[in-house]
Amino acid sequence: MAHELRKRRDLAYIAAVVSGIFAHAVLITYPWEGSTELHTLMEVIATLLALMVGVVALVRFYSEKNDMFLLLGTGFLGTALLDGYHAIVTSQWFDQLWPSAPPSLIPWSWNASRTFLSFLMLLSWWAWKREERLKEKGLIREKVVYAVVSALTLSSFVFFAFVPLPRAYYPEFTFGRPEEFLSAAFFLLALIGYLKKGAWKEDVFEHWLILSLIVGLIGQTLFMSRSLQLFDTMFDAAHLLKDLSYACVLTGLLGSVHQMARALTASQERIHAIVDTAVEGIITIDERGFIDSFNRGAEHIFGYPSEEVLEQNVKMLMPAPDHEQHEEYINQYLRTGHRKIIGIGREVMGRRKDGSTFPMDLAISEIKLGNQRIFTGIIRDISERKEAERNLTQAKEQADAANITKSKFLANMSHELRTPLNSVIGFTNILLKDTNKPLGEQGTDYLNRIVNNGKHLLELINSILDLSKVEAGQLQLSIRQTSIEQLVSDVVTPFEAELVGRDVKLLVEMPPGIPSIQTDPGKLKQILLNLVNNALKFTEQGSVTLRIQSDLERRFPTRIEVIDTGIGIPQMQLETIFEAFQQVETGTSRKYQGTGLGLNISQSLCRLMGYQLEVRSELGQGSTFSIVLQPEVVSSSSSGLGQSVRTPFPKPSPDLSKVDSPGRLPPIRVLLIDDDSSARLILKHQIEDLGYQVLTASSGQEGLRMAQEFQPDLITLDLLMPAMGGWEVLRELKNNDQTQRIPVVIVSVVAEEARGVHWGMVDLLNKPVAKEELFQVLRRYLESGKRRVLVVDDSEDSRDLIREHLESQEMDIESASNGEEALALMERFHPDLIILDLLMPVMDGLTFLRTLRKNPQFSHLPVVVVTAKNLTDEEVQAISQQVSAVLKKGDTLNQELQSVLKQVLGLDP
Ligand code: ADP
Repeated sequence: MAHELRKRRDLAYIAAVVSGIFAHAVLITYPWEGSTELHTLMEVIATLLALMVGVVALVRFYSEKNDMFLLLGTGFLGTALLDGYHAIVTSQWFDQLWPSAPPSLIPWSWNASRTFLSFLMLLSWWAWKREERLKEKGLIREKVVYAVVSALTLSSFVFFAFVPLPRAYYPEFTFGRPEEFLSAAFFLLALIGYLKKGAWKEDVFEHWLILSLIVGLIGQTLFMSRSLQLFDTMFDAAHLLKDLSYACVLTGLLGSVHQMARALTASQERIHAIVDTAVEGIITIDERGFIDSFNRGAEHIFGYPSEEVLEQNVKMLMPAPDHEQHEEYINQYLRTGHRKIIGIGREVMGRRKDGSTFPMDLAISEIKLGNQRIFTGIIRDISERKEAERNLTQAKEQADAANITKSKFLANMSHELRTPLNSVIGFTNILLKDTNKPLGEQGTDYLNRIVNNGKHLLELINSILDLSKVEAGQLQLSIRQTSIEQLVSDVVTPFEAELVGRDVKLLVEMPPGIPSIQTDPGKLKQILLNLVNNALKFTEQGSVTLRIQSDLERRFPTRIEVIDTGIGIPQMQLETIFEAFQQVETGTSRKYQGTGLGLNISQSLCRLMGYQLEVRSELGQGSTFSIVLQPEVVSSSSSGLGQSVRTPFPKPSPDLSKVDSPGRLPPIRVLLIDDDSSARLILKHQIEDLGYQVLTASSGQEGLRMAQEFQPDLITLDLLMPAMGGWEVLRELKNNDQTQRIPVVIVSVVAEEARGVHWGMVDLLNKPVAKEELFQVLRRYLESGKRRVLVVDDSEDSRDLIREHLESQEMDIESASNGEEALALMERFHPDLIILDLLMPVMDGLTFLRTLRKNPQFSHLPVVVVTAKNLTDEEVQAISQQVSAVLKKGDTLNQELQSVLKQVLGLDP
């Protein structure tokens, strides 16, 4: 593109030269005689053109200082004056006034103008060269130029007015006017200079300037110098070419001004676009504080469209106190120059259209345009950054607090663990000192202390394990539809035995028909067990009430409260008791057992489920711990309570052990054998809910009789029953031809509870095996006269411990260290009971049990599994293979029951 242009311009110059030469050749012999009038007309045109060129060049100079334009502008203005003078001297009206005759005056005044202009054009090139060299623009002082040019012009006038001139024409030579070569030389030099400068390739003005120089050069060399007398062909042609050369410069100037205006608009547009697309808000205000411009970023930040803020006082964008004081700031600055923000920048508050305020970074700069001052504010909304900083600080503080809590916790924990352990070691050492002496009263006391401390340690470790699971976020919620009634029953039942002989009642307050809730029943139960346990522990006399509150319409339960009339908690410690290892220091912790972890775990579990655990208490009056399930809609909880029934739990049911009339039985009948009336009632409801008919029996014997009589499709069997235990019932059922084929589902309480779990003929003992529990199991499974026990355990210590316990009962004991050994022993030892560890090398407990059960001889042999706390689901499953199914009471009974019943009864496709 640029190359094309350059070529075109090259051609234009060549064309100009060629046509000049051609015109010269044609015109040199052309006979022509012009007139004074024509000459005056051409000079008037030249004067006007030069004037225009001068003015425009100076305008151009003042819009962008550049010595070339200054010299050209003044040069052309001076030329205009000289040309005007030349026009006047040649007109016939004034010819009397001049000292010289027209044939002299006319060529010399022409020559003066030409020489003057060509010289200044050369000078303009030199000025550019100088600027180039000194690398600075606008070096020449305008005033000097004006003065010199005026002086030159004026002196020309004076010179022509007073000095008689020599002749100008020398017709005796080929070149009639040789003096024209001086300006021609200047034109040539300027032409060479500007061609070498090379700007003509891009710049429109310089292109036309070159053309003008070519035309000027041709005019002087080929035409005017060849004029032999006034007004001949060459004379007039040279005049015409002069006009043409001026016109060229004017064209170039106009083109350049046009180009400049276009560039200015484009750059303005660009600046606008940049300002408008800036993320920052950019606002300009005048000295009075009125908004001049408001870019899109500012619109976005402040929420105002620009129309609404332009010409308004900028204080509308500021909250108090800046809003009120802004004018004072500006006035003070204008008066004293004292800066608050200008040129400094700082964080201030801004106000949005909606009245909200936000932090922003504000940088203000001041611009002076003429005698006007403009302030430009650049604004960045830093709300997000501030927020992030705040969060970071908060997170840091929290992390610090967590670290402190953690180290406090560890310190506490090691202290809590060490204390009982020290006692164990201490007392054992005392006893070891004198092993030959009989124990005596003191010795027994020490042993009791050792045992108690050991138990306490175990409890601590179990709680810490729970806690670590909560902390590690390993606890997963298992949310399901949960019956509140069932939950309450599950919580209350384990305490029944404990309450016997105590002066404390355990009450349940529950609005009738309370709907079930979506929750994790296992975890909620764990929390309630802990709260009730605490309440009972710290209440000597009175009652502990488990109260369920609901909203007014009883559409949903809102809180579960455990209210006691016990010792209460000092106000000061109402918060700390929720921290790990915190117990009320009134000597109570010593008197009452405990780890100080229960409430901490309970609170974590509550949080996990989105509940709140609250406590109210009055010293000596009692405490109330509340689990807030739902934020209360109705504030007066007492109105909800008014409808609740206050009954001791379990509530006796009049028709518990009644057998439903057999005549009305639908095809599927379930026989429910359980000695516990409430459990029976709950289970009955649950099974009926599934659409089956239910028969109930309250003892093993009754169950056997009914099974034979009514031939149910399924039997659910509790194991822990007085008189005839579940496994006995099961054996009888299986031994009887009539009941053999009826599927039996064991429904029993969960393993972790103190009462133990019974799976078919398998019982479970938690490790380390407690003597009393072991004896209970023995009593339960060993009929009189049977005393052969096989202990299968890989740990020698465990075996010895059990052996020791058993020997005191005069049992006949054999032991094996794994399943394989035990199987080998079976043939010759024929045990009446097996105590079995599950995790053993060579052959583990479950494999042993499976193999054992395959032998009909041992299919009913009581096996007591000894296990460290938690069995996995697979293990439970494996053990349960001995019966149709095993269900844990509580937790998930409802759903499990449904699926088992369907599965066992083959109802599912
Ligand atoms: P623990 O009961 O094992 O000591 P908890 O975390 O359950 O641990 O309870 C912490 C402490 O809060 C208790 O030691 C006791 O001082 C106090 N506390 C809890 N429940 C009650 C209550 N119902 N009445 C009086 N004090 C209570």
